[in-house]
Amino acid sequence: MRKLSLDKLDALFAAISATNTLYLPVDTKAGARFERWESGKTLSTALNTVRSAKDFFFPQTENLMDFKVEGKSIEIIDTRTESEDFVLFGVRACDVKSFEVLDRVFLADPVDTYYKNRRDHGVIFSMACTRPVESCFCGTFGIDAANPGGDVACHMTDDALYLQANTDKGQRVLDSLDSLTEACTTEVVDEQNALIRERLARLPLADLSAEAFGSGKTAEYFDAPEWKQLSESCLGCGTCTFVCPTCQCYDIKDFNTGHGVKRFRCWDSCMYSEFTKMSAGQPRLTQLERFRQRFMHKLVYYPTNNDGLFSCVGCGRCVAKCPIHMNIVKVMKTLGGREHA
Ligand code: SF4
Ligand code: SF4
Repeated sequence: MRKLSLDKLDALFAAISATNTLYLPVDTKAGARFERWESGKTLSTALNTVRSAKDFFFPQTENLMDFKVEGKSIEIIDTRTESEDFVLFGVRACDVKSFEVLDRVFLADPVDTYYKNRRDHGVIFSMACTRPVESCFCGTFGIDAANPGGDVACHMTDDALYLQANTDKGQRVLDSLDSLTEACTTEVVDEQNALIRERLARLPLADLSAEAFGSGKTAEYFDAPEWKQLSESCLGCGTCTFVCPTCQCYDIKDFNTGHGVKRFRCWDSCMYSEFTKMSAGQPRLTQLERFRQRFMHKLVYYPTNNDGLFSCVGCGRCVAKCPIHMNIVKVMKTLGGREHA
């Protein structure tokens, strides 16, 4: 483990920036968000960013390719470029876990080369959560906010930053910062972790369990009458899907510029009435069906197809942002507490 005095934090950011583009959470009027670091920008003290870190690997829109059509011939123009090397600093444990959920989708055969390119070039510096908030429930999914993972795990105290490499990629970056850091024992971090775990145990959602859900539970929940009451106020606004670090649905659209066609990938939302609309029509005609799809996917379908891994990481963003205060916690409490048929 290495230690850095906090008065050298800017020097650390400058040193990382010398070889990698550095992104970190900074405070803005709209809340904390990841921005490219430059001298004068300071690390946010907010618990988490409004939008998750998934944008760096799966951006909201991207140009997949261009093509030109003349008669019966099509010229395909490959628009891909090699990603820059970058460091994402200050990623919380929930968002680090979300990368595993995304990896299982985008790195499964056939590999999504756009996503893989950015994953290969990105180095994650995580940050332990010393002050988790009432909407947090990462522990429900086995995530330890005191042991946040990533390529380099960081812990911050009032006067120092502690850094532990977890991967070869992380070790290489950490080695390049040796002149700023010093070797240390884990004593201070162990003490901080004990405090974090005490705080986590006192959170209002500390007892929320996912045990009632998981692999193979489709028949148990699909026709549950509770979906009607849970979904009836849903506005179909898609906010919950856009702030969610694990939602990964997208649409592909072509835009004719008049000089050729640009093919874009854009985030989509299963909460939208036009989602997966086909020539034969819309497969989910009601908001109840769309609402059910989102939560069944996170709590049942995804774990069924991914060795029991849930596709919620308990970040609490949907809890904080849904305009009608509906969220996965209410769904879990309602369905998980029902008398099972
Ligand atoms: S659950 Fe809430 S955030 Fe999600 S689509 Fe419905 S109203 Fe919008
Ligand atoms: S469903 Fe809600 S709590 Fe779970 S990962 Fe998505 S935004 Fe976070």
